[in-house]
Amino acid sequence: AVQMRGVNKSFGAKAALIDIDLSVANGQTAVVIGPSGSGKSTLCRTINRLEVPDTGQILIGGTPQPTGGKELPALRADVGMVFQDFNLFPQMTVLDNVTYGPRAVRHQSPEIARDRAMDLLRRVGVADQAPKLPAELSGGQQQRVAIARCMAMDPTIMLFDEPTSALDPEMVAEVLAIMQSLSEEHRTMICVTHEMGFARHVADQIVFMADGRILEQSPPAEFFEHPATSRAQEFLASVL
Ligand code: ATP
Ligand code: MG
Repeated sequence: AVQMRGVNKSFGAKAALIDIDLSVANGQTAVVIGPSGSGKSTLCRTINRLEVPDTGQILIGGTPQPTGGKELPALRADVGMVFQDFNLFPQMTVLDNVTYGPRAVRHQSPEIARDRAMDLLRRVGVADQAPKLPAELSGGQQQRVAIARCMAMDPTIMLFDEPTSALDPEMVAEVLAIMQSLSEEHRTMICVTHEMGFARHVADQIVFMADGRILEQSPPAEFFEHPATSRAQEFLASVL
């Protein structure tokens, strides 16, 4: 579970997050939507402390987020993140990308880490790519490796920041299908996406942001049928 209480974050004069209160219960999938610049990425990035909030509190599994030092790697292991541009380690093979974290942070033996990584690569359909370098894979394959790498850490929560935005259209569905299967397994997930079909069918709750604030937070049926704010109505009119 994740709770954000009164979180604010500014970049210079620009308020990127304003009074953010958000709870995502264990096993729930929250889908964050909203216009460009509304603070969606910043919200994700504060949860694993890639951005440090100015004020407020973030609880992961009921425990306040560590503020620094040697607890940060543990936080990053607990809060997995999948990025738009994959962020794989370019000089490592696909297999090493997936085994690196479990070995370095979870102290798994090479054999255990390898077996687990191959299971995960099989699950996301890229086991045959294991010996290659990321640059030899398609974007969709790289993103599936990134999801496997994230899952290998057994994170408490998985964050996805527009994981399909950099993909060719024919590769979007395969990545969304993996995310849907993770959601159906009741992993705790926060997904930023412009894929409204995914939002409507997979989310337990929709979080609509504009200008650094959460304007609406509601189940998808309610949000898509009866958006409460004019900002959400305008946003939906522009994307649907
Ligand atoms: P998009 O849909 O385009 O990805 P977003 O909703 O993810 O947008 P953020 O990236 O969170 O929006 O940005 C929110 C605001 O904070 C924007 O005005 C952005 O320019 C600003 N911002 C984000 N990161 C930084 C930074 N590192 N330095 C300065 N300003 C930033
Ligand atoms: Mg963003």
